[in-house]
Amino acid sequence: MSYETDLFVIGAGSGGVRAARIAAGHGAKVMIAEDRRIGGTCVIRGCVPKKLLVYASRFPHAFEDAVGFGFEASKPGFSWERLRDRVEAEVTRLSGLYRKGLDGSGVAIKEERATIISPHEVRLASGGTVSARVILVASGGHPSRQGEMPGAEHALISDDIFHLPSLPRRLIIVGAGYIALEFAGVFAALGTEVHVVHRGDAVLRGFDDDLRRNAAHALAALGVKFHFERRFAEIRLLPGGRRCVHLDNGETLEGDAVLIATGREPNTRGLGLENIGVALGPKGEVKVDAESRSTVDSIYAVGDVTDRLQLTPVAIREGHAFADSVFGSKRWSVDHTNVPTAVFITPEIGTVGLTQQQAVEKYPAVDVYSASFRPMFATLSGRDEKVFMKLLVDAASDRVLGLHIFGEGAAEMVQLAAIAIKMGATKADFDQTVALHPSTAEEIVTMRAPSARLRR
Ligand SMILES: Cc1cc2nc3c(=O)[nH]c(=O)nc-3n(C[C@H](O)[C@H](O)[C@H](O)COP(=O)(O)OP(=O)(O)OC[C@H]3O[C@@H](n4cnc5c(N)ncnc54)[C@H](O)[C@@H]3O)c2cc1C
Repeated sequence: MSYETDLFVIGAGSGGVRAARIAAGHGAKVMIAEDRRIGGTCVIRGCVPKKLLVYASRFPHAFEDAVGFGFEASKPGFSWERLRDRVEAEVTRLSGLYRKGLDGSGVAIKEERATIISPHEVRLASGGTVSARVILVASGGHPSRQGEMPGAEHALISDDIFHLPSLPRRLIIVGAGYIALEFAGVFAALGTEVHVVHRGDAVLRGFDDDLRRNAAHALAALGVKFHFERRFAEIRLLPGGRRCVHLDNGETLEGDAVLIATGREPNTRGLGLENIGVALGPKGEVKVDAESRSTVDSIYAVGDVTDRLQLTPVAIREGHAFADSVFGSKRWSVDHTNVPTAVFITPEIGTVGLTQQQAVEKYPAVDVYSASFRPMFATLSGRDEKVFMKLLVDAASDRVLGLHIFGEGAAEMVQLAAIAIKMGATKADFDQTVALHPSTAEEIVTMRAPSARLRR
């Protein structure tokens, strides 16, 4: 049977764009559909604009710190509107580059919603249908709005944060995952009074406990007020546009804006997958095998829609592996272990490998090497700031199982150390590496004696 196209990709985000371009490079005829803006979550409403806001949020500290290095005290004025518009301009530039990349690779772009009507057929919102040998679902995810909560419609989701008309004086954030905390850090540093409401008793579930503690302390020191073990019962709109959040213990919090950041859900609703036998998981994620193939042979899925690791480089890699394997006769699959990741609060978190809890569950004896120290920069800036580092080592094989850093530059340090850890480096390999002095990272190779040996 002949098809109009070899590959139809649904979603021009991180995973879809990479898959489309690589498949086209292997000679496949490719079409891609996007119903919002080309570039997807990361470029338009995720990593990129978020990191630009994080950079902005670090200036107030930098101006204060400069005084310790001999500069006059100064507090330059700040315009949220100018920052927001400049971020938007950069996002638009990047989206244009993504479009150019697709065009240059010969990928046909359809800027509209696509749904699946059979294992080899897609319907476009404009009415037409397209037949394809293979369909790739790369439709990503969306923030869950907790729609069942009364008044949830008065809250913002992370997509909206980049378009705020003005800097809120008081912002209430519901959730304590990395997205919630990154925005808490940004807005607190820019001068907003930030309240974080969380149903659990600690932030950053899934991260190493020491990082979780350090993150909460750092944000509290920045002025963020935590309301742990509280759920919001209702959000009410007050006259003048302010919001009042009613908590389950009877307390109320008023703010200019409420952000719900309690997680993301896969974009599979209404896509037509269930009708043709594609199995979905409990959250609505597409169930796939190691090669990203769904339960229907001609349909694959990559990225956030599969709810494996919701990170851009993972989506990109899954898209690349899919395209090489299916169109380039070069079969490979993504190894989801030892993926480095960061939380861009200030100071930031970088982490790779097993948490202490995971390491102890998996290995009979784990050596913990940790260091907590004042970075050299803080000796003159006077800022009460600490760096925390922890290496987890399998006592039997000496292999490094995890590295967790809290401190300035943590993301950059962990990205590089992740190469060694991915290669199976031992603690002895770290020890044999000469320190780069003076740096913060040198501590990674100079931690001599374990602070603890933990046994299962
Ligand atoms: C605020 C925030 C901060 C983040 N920060 C980081 C970070 O620092 N580092 C990191 O690695 N990751 C980060 N992420 C996660 C990262 O953005 C995602 O993991 C990544 O974008 C997933 O890529 P994807 O290709 O799976 O999906 P997406 O990039 O979401 O792309 C999917 C695309 O499909 C489109 N689409 C959906 N359904 C259809 C349809 N039926 N027809 C046509 N088009 C459709 C959507 O509009 C979307 O553009 C962040 C996310 C958020 C929200």
